[in-house]
Amino acid sequence: NLSERLDRSFKLLKGEGKITEINVAETLKDVRKALLDADVNYKVAKQFTDTVKEKALGQNVLTSIKPSQLMVKIVHDELASLMGGTAAEIDLKGSPSIILMSGLQGSGKTTFTGKLANMLKTKKGKSPLLVACDVYRPAAIEQLKVLGEQIGVPVYAELESKSPVEIALNAIKEAKNKGNDLVIVDTAGRLAIDEQMMQEITAIKNAIQPNETLFVVDAMTGQDAVNTAKEFNERLDFNGVVLTKLDGDTRGGAALSIRSVVDKPIKFVGTGEKMDALDVFHPDRMADRILGMGDIVSLVERAQEQYNEEEAKRLQKRIAKNQFDFNDFLTQIQQIKKMGNLKELASMIPGVGKALKNIDIDDNAFKSIEAIIFSMTPEERVNPGVLNGSRRQRIATGSGTSIQEVNKLVKQFEETRKMMKMLTAAKPGARKLPSFR
Ligand code: GDP
Ligand code: MG
Repeated sequence: NLSERLDRSFKLLKGEGKITEINVAETLKDVRKALLDADVNYKVAKQFTDTVKEKALGQNVLTSIKPSQLMVKIVHDELASLMGGTAAEIDLKGSPSIILMSGLQGSGKTTFTGKLANMLKTKKGKSPLLVACDVYRPAAIEQLKVLGEQIGVPVYAELESKSPVEIALNAIKEAKNKGNDLVIVDTAGRLAIDEQMMQEITAIKNAIQPNETLFVVDAMTGQDAVNTAKEFNERLDFNGVVLTKLDGDTRGGAALSIRSVVDKPIKFVGTGEKMDALDVFHPDRMADRILGMGDIVSLVERAQEQYNEEEAKRLQKRIAKNQFDFNDFLTQIQQIKKMGNLKELASMIPGVGKALKNIDIDDNAFKSIEAIIFSMTPEERVNPGVLNGSRRQRIATGSGTSIQEVNKLVKQFEETRKMMKMLTAAKPGARKLPSFR
């Protein structure tokens, strides 16, 4: 899959201190191939890798991050920005606000109509009215009614054969009378692009002047989805896209192509058949999904934010000179704590997350260590050799711990110091960070 292939190609970058033209070109060739396989349109993939190349070249790599990881981040951020950067809003102005569905048959319009009503009812306190404009199949009206009942939302339908335009207009009148502040119009689709369908949906749009016309598309249809989106957009000039069936292992490459081919935001994603299986579209999460790399990107990001390169260098010098003391120890602990919840952090490392799932990593583990160090005098922190029995007892009392805990920490500290000294002696300039676990 895409993630494995990227992993492999990113390995090419390993060990390089700087991202160079040669290793970028090699890597991006694979990235482009992988994107094409994930249903990303050819032109989009090409444009994408060009941008990434520009951004990647010459970037300095932080000591704490491998070039390959930085490359992943650049690719990720570029993917997210291609898909719109931030989540798009939905326009709910006016009363009633009107939302019109469009899309092929089976794309998930009726299901999404129910899901959206449910979401806006429960989260925004809206009072929706659903409108059944798929007049060709009695089963379609029945389907919407069943959904409406499930979520406790009324459905407007007319069984006599009126035109969908008339039904939609009548429904809006009904909403005004009954005080519904949101009207969602479900329409009929065809199995393929069809002139009659296009005329009908365009006529409905012109008649009801919706706040939003949403184009619903099945993410599993891949490259076809892009062509369909293009045609609907040319005729309808819709406001946003709804990607359905993103549950299962659909890769989501369609999201990327659609966004850049029609230049309309993706607003929602459907992730199942149930009424609550609906998410607001977040470009960065979709980038994660396309890359399939777990949360490695967030991990790199946090490390970038929190890890101070200068501090690392300073520390290495102190370790080399055997000057590492309890103040450094404390700084390190605080550094680690800043990176966030330990378990959460560990779970972001691919492969490690699952293994750690049932093991308890105690975030309070550092608390008593900190308390003990805080209870030391400045002299004791810098020069732990002076810690005799009575000093240790005083520290234990002061920190609300026991003398055994103090002894344990001092012992751990001495061992760590010895170990670090050995490490730096064995590998001059080694980049590895000391670990305290
Ligand atoms: P319409 O013809 O555009 O109205 O499509 P429907 O709403 O009737 O959906 C067609 C089929 O896709 C139905 O069986 C739905 O249950 C299913 N479906 C719709 N959205 C999703 C989704 O997000 N995930 C999954 N797994 N199935 C979906
Ligand atoms: Mg339908």
